[in-house]
Amino acid sequence: MKVVTRFAPSPTGMLHIGGARTALFNYLFAKHHGGKFLLRVEDTDKARSTDEATRAILDGMNWLGLHADEDIVFQSKNVDRHIECAQQMIANGTAFKCYATPEELQARRDAGEEKRKAAKAEGLSDAERDALLAEADDLLAPYRSPWRDGGDPPGSDAPYTIRLRAPDDEEIVVSDHVQGTVTLKTREIDDLILLRADGTPTYMLAVVVDDHDMGVTHVIRGDDHFRNTFRQLPIYRAMQWPVPEFAHVPMIHGSDGAKLSKRHGALSTLAYQDMGYLPEAMNSYLIRLGWSHGDQEVFTMEEAASVFDLDGINKAPGRLDLEKLGDVNAHFIRNIDEARLLALLGPEIEKITPLTSALTERVQHAIPTLKERGQTLPELAESCRFLWDSNAENLNKKARKALREDGIKRLSELREALDGADSWTIEALQGVLDSYCAAHTLSMGQVGPPLRAALTGGLPAPDLAPVMYWLGRDEVLARIDNHLPA
Ligand code: GLU
Repeated sequence: MKVVTRFAPSPTGMLHIGGARTALFNYLFAKHHGGKFLLRVEDTDKARSTDEATRAILDGMNWLGLHADEDIVFQSKNVDRHIECAQQMIANGTAFKCYATPEELQARRDAGEEKRKAAKAEGLSDAERDALLAEADDLLAPYRSPWRDGGDPPGSDAPYTIRLRAPDDEEIVVSDHVQGTVTLKTREIDDLILLRADGTPTYMLAVVVDDHDMGVTHVIRGDDHFRNTFRQLPIYRAMQWPVPEFAHVPMIHGSDGAKLSKRHGALSTLAYQDMGYLPEAMNSYLIRLGWSHGDQEVFTMEEAASVFDLDGINKAPGRLDLEKLGDVNAHFIRNIDEARLLALLGPEIEKITPLTSALTERVQHAIPTLKERGQTLPELAESCRFLWDSNAENLNKKARKALREDGIKRLSELREALDGADSWTIEALQGVLDSYCAAHTLSMGQVGPPLRAALTGGLPAPDLAPVMYWLGRDEVLARIDNHLPA
C-alpha cells in the first residue's frame, strides 16, 4: 500500500503553529514511507474562507518547505461529487430525507431544557423527578429523525436535509495511533446532516468523500477532530469504502500548560519568519514538540523523515517554549551554509543601516565568528553593529574610563604601531599588540580597554585582532583618531 497523507486546512485564518505541525507530521510520515503528501484547502464555508487566508497558509507551508506532491485540491470544487455521494447513500438506504424544520429542532431542544428545569422544582416526588429527567434526556439526546424510516413528505416542495441514518445500538471503535482504542455507542451520535436544506454539503460529508477520492490512507490531524471520527466512520461504512488509519495529535499549549493563545506566542507561522527564525529550526522544534525519538533534540528534515513514525507522537500536549526554540535556532544558525546566512542577514541589517559594499565585506569576514552570537537573525544583525557603528557618541561608562589620560597616551602609541603594520591580517595585528605590550611592559588588560573603547565604544565585539582585521586599516585608524587630540 502506498501511503497518502493530507493536510486539510480551512482558509478562515492564519496558519498557526499547531496547523504547521500537523502539516509537518503528515509530510514526514509520507516521506518516511515513500508516499505522497497532499494539500486540500477546505474552502466550502464561503462566508468565512478568504483568498488572503489561503495565500497565508500556502506561504507558511512554502516557507517551511512542506510542498505537496500534487496540485492543491480546493474542496469547493468537489461539491457535485459530495452531493452525488449523498444521493448514493439515499439510494442504498443508509441516508434519508429529513423534513424536520430548524424550528422543530429548536422547539425540541427548548422542551428538553424546560423539562430539566422543571425537574429541579421543589416538592416533586422522586418518581416525578425521574420521569421529568428521563423525558429531558430523550429530548436532548442525539437526534433521531422521525423521517429515518421514511414517511410521506409534508408537501411536494417542502425543504429537507439529507441525513445519515445513525447505526442503531452498536459500538463504533476507533483505533487511533495516538489516542489508542476508543469505543463510542452509536446512541451517542445523531442522524447527522450530510446535505443542508440549501443543498450544500457539510464538513462531515465533504471530508470523508475527499479523503476517499484522494486515496488518503492515513488521516493525521489535531485531536480537536477526534470525536468527529466517530461520526465519519459510519459514512465510510455507508459508502462501503475502506477506512483510513487515524492519528489525532494533541494540541500545542503555552508554557504554562494553558491552551495556546496570543499571549503565549500563538502567532501565524510566518510571524516566526519575521522574528528571525530559520525554517529548518522551526521544523526541528515543531517535530520535537509533539514527537520524540530517543533523546535526540535536533533534526534535519532528512533525519526526521528517515525515522518518523506515528508511535512516537506524544499523548500529552506539547508546550511552546520560546527559549528552547531560540536554542534550536542558534544551533541551525551555527551550522547553516554561510552564503545563505549572509543572504538572510542582509535584509535584517538593512533594517538598521544601509548595507554598503564595504559593510557587506566586513560582515562576510566576521560572520564565521559572529554567528555564535545570536539566537535569531535580528539578534545576529545587532551583534554586527560595531561593524558599522563606532558608538563614539554613546560611549558607555567603562569605555569613557578607558579613554582617560593613560588610555589616550597608549592609544596614540598604538595608532602609530598599527599604522606601521606590514600586513593587515589577524596574526599580524595580534603580533602588533603583543610587541607593543612587551615593549612597554604592559599587559593586554591595560592596553586592550582603550583600544576597544575607541573601536567599538563599548558595543559587544569579539577579540580585538579580528575586529581590526574586519574593520580594515582605514576604519581602525579613523576610529582611533576620533578620540585623539587633533
Ligand atoms: N478543515 C479542518 C480544519 O481546518 C480539518 C479537517 C481534517 O483534517 O479532517 O480544522
